[in-house]
Amino acid sequence: MHRHGLFIDGQWRESRAHFPSINPATEEPFAEFAAATAEDMATAVTAARTAFDTGPWPGMPAAERGRVLRTAAALLKLRAEEFAQAETADTGKPIFESRSIDVPTAVDSLDYYGCLIRGVEGAAIPVGDAAIDATVREPVGVVGAVTPWNFPVVLACRKLGPALAAGNTVVLKPASLAPLTTVMLADVFAEAGLPPGALNIVTGSGREAGQALLDDSRIDKLSFTGSTAVGREVLAASTRSIGRCSLELGGKSPAVVLADADLDAAVEGILFGAFLNQGECCCAATRVLVDGRVQDDLVARLVARAKKIHVGDPLDEKTRMGPLISADHRDAVLAAIGEAKQAGGRVACGGGMPRGLSRGYYVEPTIFDDVPSKSRLYREEIFGPVLPVTPFVGDDALVAAANDTPYGLAASIWTRDLAKGRRLASRIRAGTVWINIHNFVFNNAPYGGFKQSGLGRECGPEGLDAYTEIKNIITWIAPQPFRWY
Ligand code: NAP
Ligand code: MG
Repeated sequence: MHRHGLFIDGQWRESRAHFPSINPATEEPFAEFAAATAEDMATAVTAARTAFDTGPWPGMPAAERGRVLRTAAALLKLRAEEFAQAETADTGKPIFESRSIDVPTAVDSLDYYGCLIRGVEGAAIPVGDAAIDATVREPVGVVGAVTPWNFPVVLACRKLGPALAAGNTVVLKPASLAPLTTVMLADVFAEAGLPPGALNIVTGSGREAGQALLDDSRIDKLSFTGSTAVGREVLAASTRSIGRCSLELGGKSPAVVLADADLDAAVEGILFGAFLNQGECCCAATRVLVDGRVQDDLVARLVARAKKIHVGDPLDEKTRMGPLISADHRDAVLAAIGEAKQAGGRVACGGGMPRGLSRGYYVEPTIFDDVPSKSRLYREEIFGPVLPVTPFVGDDALVAAANDTPYGLAASIWTRDLAKGRRLASRIRAGTVWINIHNFVFNNAPYGGFKQSGLGRECGPEGLDAYTEIKNIITWIAPQPFRWY
């Protein structure tokens, strides 16, 4: 079994302890990773701090930094199949998805920020003839980044792309359940010409290594993607030194189906929204709110199509749903399904483990036709292939239900009346509102949450701004020196 070390200051280092990563389809450990201690994390932060304070990266011309990022994108693309295989082995997601979504999206994110950084401009602000006032964007400093297990390589690149392009240095801690592709990125960046210390990749538990990163006062910015519970800890840690903080957290995103929706399109789009990546997707459609007049028709069509989803070996090119990330997570999803049944929810399809698969943490694509609005399934993020459908009458009731959640990551609206869709979009409190589509996230457009779904935006120019400070440079140019006394 291959044993991966810690990538610190441009070198691979050993650690005292290791932990395995499990392939969720085979239930077998397939690689080992260094379990960083708090001291290991401190060493990585020292490397990043030194690389920022005295190294070449922050002061390098943007065009050169951009070239390194675009070279990294090209090298990742050359190794696309290797990364896709690794992502599927580590997370269980179908190879079809790793090949068509995860790896290309990661490549594009690095490429995009490698290009965008050259277009970053400051402003010349008119302040009279005596002075020139000009703004420039500078890196924030040392970034501490922590990522989850559901889209490891994509989410790592959505932080590394803008953070490095802007001239920051980074310590990145991936999730322990799926660290492989993030660790593999170290060689990609080194080969692309990133100087030592600019990127440090440190595996280890959230409790020890992650917490040590949060608590290190030498970090200028924390960037976190994961659960709202841990996000709260990250925000609290950043307040101690008034550190910068970006959070991409959980969601309970509704798909709102109006009575005039094209139901065929809605069914295809909502199933993609609900079941992509086994439903382990932060912006997944996890509540269908449907006009009661079309509920029966919609549920019948959803069920008919959901039953055809090919669940099984993620390495099979035909598979569209693989196993969940871990046995514990599968059990938690099954427990939420069980509770919803107990509370009177009606299972329209699925509801258990698929038959005929003797190994792997699989859960059937599951649809509930009506669940009590108090149930956990209706209220909380379950992060599995489970979709409750709940009827309401009229647009106002649908909008009120869509907003009745502490989350505000995303929502979709399904209607043939696009003008009405736009009107309703403005009434929904969420960072992304899709009309007649769900789960499309573009690297060049901002993504993030309202309310408890996060703070700040990733992707797009806003995602780059989040890794910069604005400096205002005021130059006195009047012929006379300024005098006051
Ligand atoms: P999680 O438990 O919050 O873990 C995320 C990361 O935080 C992991 O690397 C974890 O390390 C680390 N961590 C845990 N405790 C920590 C601590 N005290 N200090 C520092 N780091 C700590 O979330 P998850 O279960 O991996 O991912 C699922 C969640 O992520 C869902 O809520 C989902 O909605 C959210 N998510 C959001 C987005 C978005 O863009 N909004 C995208 C993807 C996922 P270990 O792995 O070692 O525990
Ligand atoms: Mg794994």
